[in-house]
Amino acid sequence: MLDIRYELTQQKKDKPDPQKLGFGVHYTDHMFIVDHTEGIGWHDARIVPYAPLQLDPAAMTLHYAMESFEGLKAYRQPDGSIRLFRPDKNAERMINTNRRMCLPALPVEDFVQAVKAIVKTEEDWVPSEEGTSLYIRPFVIATEPHLGVRTSKTHQFLIICSPVGAYYSTGINPVKIFVEDEYTRATPGGTGFTKCGGNYAASLISQVKAHELGYEQTLWLDGVEHKYVEEVGSMNCFFKIGGTVYTAPCTGTVLPGVTRMSCIELLKKWGYAVSEERLAIADVMKASQDGRLEEVFGTGTAAVISPVGELRFEDQVAYINDGRIGEVTHRLYDTITGIQWGTLPDDMGWTTGI
Ligand SMILES: *Cc1c(COP(=O)(O)O)cnc(C)c1O
Repeated sequence: MLDIRYELTQQKKDKPDPQKLGFGVHYTDHMFIVDHTEGIGWHDARIVPYAPLQLDPAAMTLHYAMESFEGLKAYRQPDGSIRLFRPDKNAERMINTNRRMCLPALPVEDFVQAVKAIVKTEEDWVPSEEGTSLYIRPFVIATEPHLGVRTSKTHQFLIICSPVGAYYSTGINPVKIFVEDEYTRATPGGTGFTKCGGNYAASLISQVKAHELGYEQTLWLDGVEHKYVEEVGSMNCFFKIGGTVYTAPCTGTVLPGVTRMSCIELLKKWGYAVSEERLAIADVMKASQDGRLEEVFGTGTAAVISPVGELRFEDQVAYINDGRIGEVTHRLYDTITGIQWGTLPDDMGWTTGI
């Protein structure tokens, strides 16, 4: 249990127009901070006015990417209350990330307590318009000023919050994806399974390349053989081929998404065959030619489910389902968003109040 001190601001910001929230543009009035010191552990948990951080320019996070993060949302329910979607899964994932990154992690109960405390403080900031939510960004940074490469003796865990709009302002439109065959995101033994800034820093070059070629996102292949599909940008990826739903195994090079896990649980409950065996990009392109590539979609907290309409691999292009949203893609989207916003019963026990 954290003992949280509150220092609340008297100068609240004006709320942004709920129709024009965008993603990660506006920030709330407060933030959560707790310090970690080697030999002492976590101490001085507090909710304070949102403000720039004071960091020594030699702080290790700035030089060696000693940082990790999480991402989840709070949803306004039809009765006006606020619920979170599986926050314990984010807490567990941050523990696994931080073990690999040699960063300290909060116990699951303290992580969830901190998330609930900041969301409760900022409850006026949880929007109620359709498709909107409060995005919650917990992160850990190494704060010790030291330029020698080693683990840090001091860290901070922080949470900031941002009201976000409907991901699809014009309805769900299938995205165009470029299959990356030059750069790689993750290799066995590396940090592919962690949510760390370094993974993203190294991936941007492929996003730039995809944009230049007229595609929205990159689909990564495995880093050893450049043969098997792994994931898309900040989403896991699913392929429905001849009735079976495939997604890459979480064996160290793929981020274990909470949305991915939730989709697999629902698909199995609905009686679909789900395979977490490796799937070769050549087999995906072949299935497309044979008319067996039925649906492709990405999954992640930001967009929930994102249908893919086009895949380009080298000089081949696969058009999926004539650019329409597939049946399974649609059913997953409706079910998960229904549970999140409380318009469907939470049969799976996935949500929790604040
Ligand atoms: C966060 C993230 C995902 C999606 O995870 P969710 O828990 O479903 O939001 C997928 N891939 C990467 C690389 C990510 O960082």
